[in-house]
Amino acid sequence: MKKSVDGRTPLDSNRLRLSKVKSTAAGVPAAISSMNHGIRKMGVTRTVRSLLMVNQKDGFDCPGCAWPDPDHRTSFEFCQNGAKAVADEAMKANVNASFFEKYSVDELLKKSDYWLNSQGRIAQPMILEPNASHYTPIDWDAALRHIASTIQSMHSPERGVYYTSGRTSNEAAFLYQALVRALGTNNLPDCSNMCHESSGKALTQTIGIGKGTVHLEDFNHSDLILVIGQNPGTNHPRMLTALRDAKKKGAKIISINPLPETGLKRFKHPQDYMTGDVKSTQLADLHVPVRIGGDAALLKGVMKQLLSLGAIDRDFIATKTEAFGEFESGLASQDWQQIVHDSGIEREMINEIAQMCADSRATIACWAMGLTQHKNGVAVIQEVVNLLLMGGHIGRPGAGLCPVRGHSNVQGDRTVGIWEAPSESFLAKLEQGLQFELPRKHGYDVVHSIHAMENGDVDVLICMGGNFLSATPDTPSTAKAIQTVGLTVQISTKLNRSHLVKGKTALILPVIGRTELDIQSSGGQFVTVENSMGVVHRSKGNLKPVSNGLMSEPALVAQLGQLLCPDVLDWASCIGNYDSIRDIMSKALNGFENYNERVRKPSGFLLPNPPRDSCEFSTPSSKASFTVHSLPDVTLSEDRFVLMTIRSHDQYNTTIYGLHDRYRGIHGNRRVLFMNALDMSEYGLKTRDIVDITSHFLGTKRHSKQWIVVPYEIPRRNLAAYFPEANELVPLESTATISNTPTSKWIEVSLTNPVDSSEEE
Ligand code: SF4
Repeated sequence: MKKSVDGRTPLDSNRLRLSKVKSTAAGVPAAISSMNHGIRKMGVTRTVRSLLMVNQKDGFDCPGCAWPDPDHRTSFEFCQNGAKAVADEAMKANVNASFFEKYSVDELLKKSDYWLNSQGRIAQPMILEPNASHYTPIDWDAALRHIASTIQSMHSPERGVYYTSGRTSNEAAFLYQALVRALGTNNLPDCSNMCHESSGKALTQTIGIGKGTVHLEDFNHSDLILVIGQNPGTNHPRMLTALRDAKKKGAKIISINPLPETGLKRFKHPQDYMTGDVKSTQLADLHVPVRIGGDAALLKGVMKQLLSLGAIDRDFIATKTEAFGEFESGLASQDWQQIVHDSGIEREMINEIAQMCADSRATIACWAMGLTQHKNGVAVIQEVVNLLLMGGHIGRPGAGLCPVRGHSNVQGDRTVGIWEAPSESFLAKLEQGLQFELPRKHGYDVVHSIHAMENGDVDVLICMGGNFLSATPDTPSTAKAIQTVGLTVQISTKLNRSHLVKGKTALILPVIGRTELDIQSSGGQFVTVENSMGVVHRSKGNLKPVSNGLMSEPALVAQLGQLLCPDVLDWASCIGNYDSIRDIMSKALNGFENYNERVRKPSGFLLPNPPRDSCEFSTPSSKASFTVHSLPDVTLSEDRFVLMTIRSHDQYNTTIYGLHDRYRGIHGNRRVLFMNALDMSEYGLKTRDIVDITSHFLGTKRHSKQWIVVPYEIPRRNLAAYFPEANELVPLESTATISNTPTSKWIEVSLTNPVDSSEEE
């Protein structure tokens, strides 16, 4: 079987087992799975100790998603995927020198992502010398000196790229950006470039802040919740509790998604059994199976109908917004035929949605990648803003905009300075706190940094967490680009493919995890994170680190700072007591005043958010802005389909916990192509047939082999396949306008029988 450049080989198709799609999310199976993962990876004691502390006020923040914690916490404040994330990080198994002695990089490349991740925690620093076949041990001092001398030998600071994954704490991220800016560059790409960058750009332009405008408490006061292009059952599971509680208070829920996800059908909270409550709760009142890329057309249809019903908040529009006139005439000129064709939704259902919106006094709109990872990602999110502005649903209890972040601190990292294109006002404030001059030239985001590598313009790539290769698009091109870099440094907890597709010299630096104790000279330290709703709170691990060869992220960055720019900050005190870092942050960042005092409050503190707090808008006009966008071109030529990448219920971003997407009934294999049964028969395909996929973009083609076809409830000519395996089909150049986010939810493809495609190559 021919292997792809990143070494992946299609898993054995015979291992694929199909079962019925689930109608209820969570329940007892979730509790059992949580315990299984825990005990299998951590043993009983670590499982009990960690799961009793995750998301507790004096505990550690779940290393999974960024869904907020309720003020009143239950004893078990986690979901199934949160338990998996904890077990995955706190597992006892180690990946140490003898492991790397046993396996060469080439041998590891042939292993699946699932296998790599299940080997354990990286226990000590490792180096892969140029042309070496195996990683070998290196001590911390030598490793950090190697990085410092390589950076100092670069002929321009712009030849360094410093990537951040959303699990990095506020303290580590703040020191990291300070170090990088002290080196003279803003090359600070991060994982949000690939996910909610479109949300940040869309919201900043229209309401003056790049964040959502709701509190968790608002879900208890809302009477209509729209969940658009999001699968909370898998990616933000505790959101289902908030949706259930809202339902019990009479709210209506509309799910807008090409796939009828189990997590929005019915939900059973595992802890309800303890009170004898065995009934599950229906969540979505209406599932709207919009075509991939059809959301903008659907939203225009709903707003057009609302206008004709006169169901708009004229007072709010007159006093709080601008450009309503242009917006209104834009809608008037939009014809219904295109709306129905592009959305794939009949007029009756659009009117039904509009009526539910018209009846609502307090609407919350939630979204995720299903909107952000499109060419028109920024525009379609601004259509969501338009819809809520029409009804005055901003700055009102139970109402607002709610982009739900994927990574536990991705929003926090951006807030504290992980930003390749910072505004002048942000840099000016930062300079006040840091007391040294900061570079103004904007840096590379993720896609630009890959292009820079392709052009041989990058000598050093440092990744603070994450799995750069697997998270990014166009895997073969990205892999080749990374291999041009002189030195790649992965600051990691677990083994992944980015350790195997690397620069000429590669370093792996293992760090203390979120679940673990972080002891420095002044004693035990806590770090802080910011959740999706702008709450900054503490996180303090309670488990003994799995190895004494680890370093904390803040200490690692500070030690590099001592080597590279010793005079810009008192790095030593930053290591000794993280309060020193927070003291600087309180002077350098708006909203962080008295940081150390406020973050010690049990539930932390809320960052300012003018639209939410006082219905005010920090836009040039001090008004929220309606916008007008033309609909995207969603036409497909004869033999083409549109593919979207999705996550299974047994993974978290690029981390594969297991091979059981139990809600969708897919087990044992991930190289699965979800296809509409009518399309299958039209193309003469049967369940388990194998096809090759070719993506088409501006005359270029990308191939991906050996996908197993399974019938699934998805609109005609729409397909879905798992991320990151399908990333090799996403063109690097195919990005969203303004945000430059890869269009992983819109990939134009054709299917070929393996035999035919071998001739094609
Ligand atoms: S909802 Fe997200 S943050 Fe909460 S426990 Fe689950 S994975 Fe963790």
